[in-house]
Amino acid sequence: MLFKLSGGTVYDPENGIDGQVRDVWMQGGKVVAEPTGGVRPDRELDVRGYVVMPGGIDMHCHIAGPKVNAGRKMTPEMKRFDPICRRTDVTRSGTAGPVPSTFTTGYMYSQMGYTTAFDAAIPGLLARHAHEEFADTPQLDKGFFVLFGNNHYVMDRIREGEHEQLDAYCSWMLESAKGYTVKIVNPGGVESWKQISRMSMQQLDEPVPSFGVTPRAIVRELAAASDRLKLPHSVHIHCNNLGIPGNWETTQHTMESLEGHRGHFAHVQFHSYDGDPNDPRSFRSATSRLVDYVSAHPEITVDVGHVNPGQTLSMTGDAPFSQHLFRLTGNKWFTADCEQESSCGVIPIEYRPEKSLIHAVQWAIALEWYLLMDDPWRCAMTSDHPNGGAFYRYPEIIALLMDRELRRDTMARLPHGLAERTDLADIDREYTLFEIAVITRASPARILGMKHKGHLGVGADADVTIYTPNTDRRLMFERPRWVIKGGTIAAEDGDIREEVFGETLFVEPGYEDEALPGIKDWFEDHYTIRFRNYGVDEHEVAQPRVVPCDSPQDGPAVASHDDGDASGA
Ligand SMILES: [Zn+2]
Repeated sequence: MLFKLSGGTVYDPENGIDGQVRDVWMQGGKVVAEPTGGVRPDRELDVRGYVVMPGGIDMHCHIAGPKVNAGRKMTPEMKRFDPICRRTDVTRSGTAGPVPSTFTTGYMYSQMGYTTAFDAAIPGLLARHAHEEFADTPQLDKGFFVLFGNNHYVMDRIREGEHEQLDAYCSWMLESAKGYTVKIVNPGGVESWKQISRMSMQQLDEPVPSFGVTPRAIVRELAAASDRLKLPHSVHIHCNNLGIPGNWETTQHTMESLEGHRGHFAHVQFHSYDGDPNDPRSFRSATSRLVDYVSAHPEITVDVGHVNPGQTLSMTGDAPFSQHLFRLTGNKWFTADCEQESSCGVIPIEYRPEKSLIHAVQWAIALEWYLLMDDPWRCAMTSDHPNGGAFYRYPEIIALLMDRELRRDTMARLPHGLAERTDLADIDREYTLFEIAVITRASPARILGMKHKGHLGVGADADVTIYTPNTDRRLMFERPRWVIKGGTIAAEDGDIREEVFGETLFVEPGYEDEALPGIKDWFEDHYTIRFRNYGVDEHEVAQPRVVPCDSPQDGPAVASHDDGDASGA
């Protein structure tokens, strides 16, 4: 079907289109060039006066796998009080709250205009579970990052300096799990905690007990391996010492440890704290120093991990941090170990910036990151869903970024002391619609190395969101007029019109067969399951799509794609 969107006001930053009136033509799930010779479309939607953007992309969230299920099971009291989409002829009944059921997750992203999402922390051992949940999550293209930063085999190879075997293992693991990139969570720190239950600051040059490798070496070597494998997205890093006052130095040292390799720093808000770890009253922002460092290093990208007021869950591969939160709050707490690979922790948390100065500073640090980064192309919008707040609250943050008066009115209700702990009150910048389109679509697509997403040029996936303009930006972005997924109208005025099952995105970097016996022997000695049962077969993956590994090895993380063509939009 040839489908035409007529006369919309298009914001397509990747193709340099900033609010120009254009038609968008779609066919076979792709954006196509306007046909010549007066060909009529099979369907035409008049979108004159509406704002047209590519579908939204969430590059770091937690929507699949056992940790998410643990969160669902332990918070029955949170299921009812959050917005849930209205029933339509095509929807199934699900539960909401900060961790919605699988298909409700898809519906709620779709009704907000998002069409792609990546889960940021899946152990290879539990990849099959994540794929089964993906297969039950409509309206989205999906992928996940695989945990490597405390993996025993990885730490052994790094200690022994066996780069070829490290590359082969990363490649084999990504192919076995059908994962998208190498994820590091609290490098070495989780393993140290497992062994000695440590709760002090993890130093970057302090070796992990029994393994003799430092967090610095883990980051450097996995970043180098990811570049040698030419992964479309760089290594994806959750630094040591998340949430601890004074952790900004750890964050900057971790950035330095890349030694020029590409690296993405996740939920950087939680890693931008100045102050004394033992004195919460000293807590303050260190955002501007880290922004300066990131701005001077084009190989580094970030997503923010902002904080919304209200109840949510912390859900992380950083089990020591979950224990830290448990000690602070006394809330019910779930933790689990995942054999040689990783751990996880889940704990309810409530952000109360109007009562807690620390929560207010966290809220402000996130906004500082969005507003101080001159180059929005290296910054993506995330709340580390559900850690900083549920994904469906992104429009609240969009409204704050676009309106400095709204920020000031909000700050006036927050505790005294905020102004001297952050620079937020002095920032006048207001995001434009073009810049919002960058941080919610174009930059996550570029950072993830997906040339077929985040823009409306010829050949792009036909994922399009059409908004009714409104000076109330929260309302505008909460309920788009139409959401098109792969060329099909998936949602209309917030109601799901069609269940559209998207693709599963993963990589196949390739490895030599002679690397396998070494991995297999180690595996049979250490795991509770057989090697032959570990890998996920392609037939177990819903609508598999391989994204090519062709990133420049040492080039900037965010090289512009060159096969887009603005003529279609
Ligand atoms: Zn996360």
